[in-house]
Amino acid sequence: MLYADYNGSAPLLTSVREHLKKRLDSSLFGNPNALHTIGEKLNLGIEKCRTMIASDLGAHPDQIYFNSGASEGISHIIGSILLNAPREKKVVITSPIEHVVVPNTLKFYQDKFDFKIVNVKLTAQGVVDLDHLKSLLLQYQGQTALVAIMAANNETGVIQPYQQIAQLSHQHQVDYFCDTTQLIGKGDFHFEESGIDYGVCSGHKIGALTGSGFILVKDKTKLSPYVFGSTQEHGLRGGTQNYLGIETLAVAVRDFTLNKNQLSTLQAAREEFEARLQKEVPQVVILGLGAPRLAGTSLIGLPGLHGQAVLIELEAHDIFVTTSAACADNQPETSAVLKAMEVTDQIGRSVIRISLSYQNGANDYAYLAEKLITTYNKLNRIHSY
Ligand code: PLP
Repeated sequence: MLYADYNGSAPLLTSVREHLKKRLDSSLFGNPNALHTIGEKLNLGIEKCRTMIASDLGAHPDQIYFNSGASEGISHIIGSILLNAPREKKVVITSPIEHVVVPNTLKFYQDKFDFKIVNVKLTAQGVVDLDHLKSLLLQYQGQTALVAIMAANNETGVIQPYQQIAQLSHQHQVDYFCDTTQLIGKGDFHFEESGIDYGVCSGHKIGALTGSGFILVKDKTKLSPYVFGSTQEHGLRGGTQNYLGIETLAVAVRDFTLNKNQLSTLQAAREEFEARLQKEVPQVVILGLGAPRLAGTSLIGLPGLHGQAVLIELEAHDIFVTTSAACADNQPETSAVLKAMEVTDQIGRSVIRISLSYQNGANDYAYLAEKLITTYNKLNRIHSY
């Protein structure tokens, strides 16, 4: 079996499984906010996890707030900034390739409070055009409440120049929210060096438990609570903490930190795989080719075929991929991300996304290449009858 949908959800890491097995045999279960010794121990455990994650991601422990994942984090951050924005700041600069959570959250505030949402242009490879961003920041000087541009795209894996975006935003006194969901646990990331003001993480994207996550916040005084409760997470996120999930987050982030040196091997194997595909299937289109990309992500167009047919055929070989994104598999149309990159429908409908992790290697890519080429030849033959 070859699972190739790490951008959709990563299976639990072995280190996380081992932790959970031992953990479930312990008797340390209770409310981490209680005053009794069990509560105190659980609370200390949460703080230890916060410190571990902070140290691995170049952040201060009090810049990390645990929650249920990226969708909550994005809603929290955008909601706080827009609700607290001064009246004259009614513009948000974003990109047309954000994960659907971002445009949907922005639309809510646009409809309710009359925010203006402005999209930055992209290059053909799906990278934000920094000159256009500069001109937008100038055009909306003094009116921009937030810049919201992701770190790495979930479909193409293209990594955005987020450090430069942070610098430009700050030159214009605008805060920068960067959706780091796909970068954390898949690429090198250092919160302080990134310059971004807000980031997010989802446990299930990094091999921790689904339903766990956190936000990274440079200055917490700019946020208000989104989920109300008591004093949990310094009053910023109410509700009894998901301490098992939090433990798995710390284990998964540490696992990545200890193994991220494997990313260069993964990237080399991916490049070899893509080169072989280009040689044996000359019609193939690799989206985002030439731009910096996540080491294990390839979005591959096979013009003439339908991505869903390729997905089904690969599954017969026990290979699990998606079309453009896991949540778009039921929509047989060109995704919004690819439309924004001006990809034609012929290519857009034919794509499959292969996303692997630092634990995969050359053998996995060799198997994928073999089965994908066989699949292409088979479906292409059927199609041309
Ligand atoms: N942002 C990006 C870039 C994503 O890829 C995803 C999930 O696919 C999300 C946000 C939302 O994450 P979750 O569904 O874990 O809340």
